[in-house]
Amino acid sequence: MEANGSILTNKYSEGLPNARYYGGNEYIDELEVLCRKRALQAFNLDPAKWGVNVQPYSGSTANFAALTALIQPNDRLMGLGLPDGGHLTHGYYTAKKKMTASSIYFQSFPYAIHPETNLIDYEKLASQAKIFKPRLIICGASAYPRDWDYANLKATAEKEGAWLMADIAHTSGLIAAQELNNPFEYCDVVTTTTQVQIYLFPESELKHLPTDTKLSVVPDLENAKDLEKRVNDAVFPACQGGPHNNTIAAIATALLQVSQPSWKAYAKQVIANARTLADALVAHGYKLQTAGTDNHLVLWDLRPIGLTGSKVEKVCDLMGITINKNAVSGDASAQVPGGIRLGTSALTSRDMREEDIKVVADFLHRAVQLSLLLQKEAGSKLLKDFVRVATVQEEGKEGFALV
Ligand code: PLP
Repeated sequence: MEANGSILTNKYSEGLPNARYYGGNEYIDELEVLCRKRALQAFNLDPAKWGVNVQPYSGSTANFAALTALIQPNDRLMGLGLPDGGHLTHGYYTAKKKMTASSIYFQSFPYAIHPETNLIDYEKLASQAKIFKPRLIICGASAYPRDWDYANLKATAEKEGAWLMADIAHTSGLIAAQELNNPFEYCDVVTTTTQVQIYLFPESELKHLPTDTKLSVVPDLENAKDLEKRVNDAVFPACQGGPHNNTIAAIATALLQVSQPSWKAYAKQVIANARTLADALVAHGYKLQTAGTDNHLVLWDLRPIGLTGSKVEKVCDLMGITINKNAVSGDASAQVPGGIRLGTSALTSRDMREEDIKVVADFLHRAVQLSLLLQKEAGSKLLKDFVRVATVQEEGKEGFALV
C-alpha cells in the first residue's frame, strides 16, 4: 500500500527501461529492472532465457497484449469456456453476442470439461483442435479446482501449429512455490494477475500488502528474443500508454516475498486449507465439482440441494462471509448459477490453519442451511428483502433468527 500510494504515481515513463520517451526516468528504470528480475526469480526462470514485461495494468490487459503479440486479427483461438471455469478474456462469447475483445477480434472456439468427471477433456480438445485449427490455445482458469496437464496441451498445440499460452492468474503463488505443475516448461507465453495470490502472508518479515500490477512472462524459445519484443510492443504501444510505476513498485515488493523460502510453507498451507475445506463440506454431505481440489479453490455444486449460488452468496453477505456465486458444470446462467466458489488464499494470509478452516466450513454449512430454511419458509423473494440475519445458538441447540 505504501508503494502503491507513493509519489511514483506521478512519473510518466512510456517505453522500457533505458528506452523511454520521457526524461527523468533514472530511478524508474532501476525500479522496473528490479521488478523484472524479481519476477523471474519468483518463478525460478533463467534471465538469460526468459523475458518478462511487468507493465500491464490488469490481467485482462495482459491477456489481450499476449493475444496481440501472438496472433493476427481474426485468427482462431481456443480457451476453456466460461461456464466451465475459463475467464472472459479467453475468447468468451454468448449465442447472442461477442462479449469480449478476445471474441470480437479473434475467432473463438471454447473447449470444455468432461460432463461426468468435470475435468478438462484433453482428448476432446485435441480432436476439436484438429478440426478448428487454432493459432493459439489458452490454458488456465478462474474456477477450476484441479491442476493442468501442460505437456498434453503442448502436444496438441505443436501438432496443430498453435501457440500455447497459460494464464495462471489463480494459481501463480502456488506455481511459484512449485506446489503445482510448471507451465513454464511447456508454454510459449505465461500471464498472471497478482491480486489473487502474490501478496502478504502472516509470517512475512516484510510488512507490505497486495498489489494490483500484472505480469506477462515470455518463454524460452529459439526465437525468444523476437517473442519478447512482440510482447513488449503489444503491451506498449499496441494496448497501453505509460506504465503505472507505483504498482510496479508494489509488485516488486510483493515478488520479493514470493522468492523467500517461507513462501513455500504459505503455499503448502493454502492447499492444505483448501483440502480441509473440501473434506469438511463433503463430510456434511455436499457435492463439490470434481469432488475435491488440487489448489486453493473449492467449487461447491448447490443444485443437488435445490439452492442457487446467488441465494447463498446473499445470505453469506448478510452473515459477514464473503464468497462468490459461480457457474458449475452444465449451468445455463452466470447470473443465477448453481454453485459457489471458495478460495483459501486470503484465510491463509490471516494465518488460519486446518482447525480454523473446519470452523469456517461449519459457518458455511449453517449459511446453506439458513438459505434452505428461508427458501422453504418464505420464498426466495424474502432473501432480497430482509435486512440482517443472525444465527443463534441456545444451549447447544442451533437455530436461525431473522432480525
Ligand atoms: N485471468 C484470470 C484467470 C482471472 O481469473 C482474472 C480475474 O480474476 C483475469 C484474468 C483478469 O484480471 P483483471 O480483473 O485484473 O483484469
